[in-house]
Amino acid sequence: MADEVSFLNTRFNRMSWSEAIDRLLTQLLMRQGGRVYYANAHTMVTASQNPALAKALAHSDLLLADGSGVCWGSALLRTPLVHNLNGTDLVPALCKEGAQKNLSVYLLGAKPGVAEEAAANLKNAYPSLVIAGTHHGYFSRAETPQILKTIRAARPHLLLVAMGVPQQEIWIDQYARQLRGITCMGVGGLFDFVAQRVPRAPYSIRAIGMEWLWRLAMEPARLWRRYIIGNFVFLGLVIANAITPNQDEQTT
Ligand code: UDP
Repeated sequence: MADEVSFLNTRFNRMSWSEAIDRLLTQLLMRQGGRVYYANAHTMVTASQNPALAKALAHSDLLLADGSGVCWGSALLRTPLVHNLNGTDLVPALCKEGAQKNLSVYLLGAKPGVAEEAAANLKNAYPSLVIAGTHHGYFSRAETPQILKTIRAARPHLLLVAMGVPQQEIWIDQYARQLRGITCMGVGGLFDFVAQRVPRAPYSIRAIGMEWLWRLAMEPARLWRRYIIGNFVFLGLVIANAITPNQDEQTT
């Protein structure tokens, strides 16, 4: 079975693509519930400055490596997370596999209308997939109890929460306990990609670990701080940990 790795003081689950799909499908279809996150360089930088996100990551049932930065940084610290299990690719693959077993999914997040479009595209691609419901990600704290009630009544196996880092992880950390039997997964900008509101990088760019550069080119005003400054901060965190290596150790 897959093992655990501590990278930048955060416990990751190290597993291959097929192990992740198998483990997730079992967890979902057996209605075990739980909290599943993907962490990339931006997540690690944000967690280093945001205790609520760090706490949410520590409470995860499954934390998967997302992006070449985390794979590269962990290798430098001799705790390699070999497989890049980014959610933008893994979630559609999970829906494809799960559809054959009548997996049901609820989409929560993104701007009004986007979750519906993403759901329609997923249903079109995988007709046996059950769409349990959708809701946008711009709601108030006062509206949350009603949204939780609606999700509980819809009884999806999987709740995809696409509200960006760190809101989605903090939201899931706070409310997953009220969604027993439903696995909650933070998926960032996934709905924007699946709804084709934001174009995905061509495969050749993704294959060399440069999707971040593509995203920066697509949305420079929103993302320059995250990628230009954030990548330097991430590099600094990795170097600081390399200099004081006792902070990180491989646990299994
Ligand atoms: N979002 C949301 N509610 C908010 C803030 C953001 O639903 O209060 C959505 C936003 O519309 C977008 C997603 O969260 O669809 C964040 O996308 P981003 O590309 O920033 O995600 P990441 O890079 O973290 O995967």
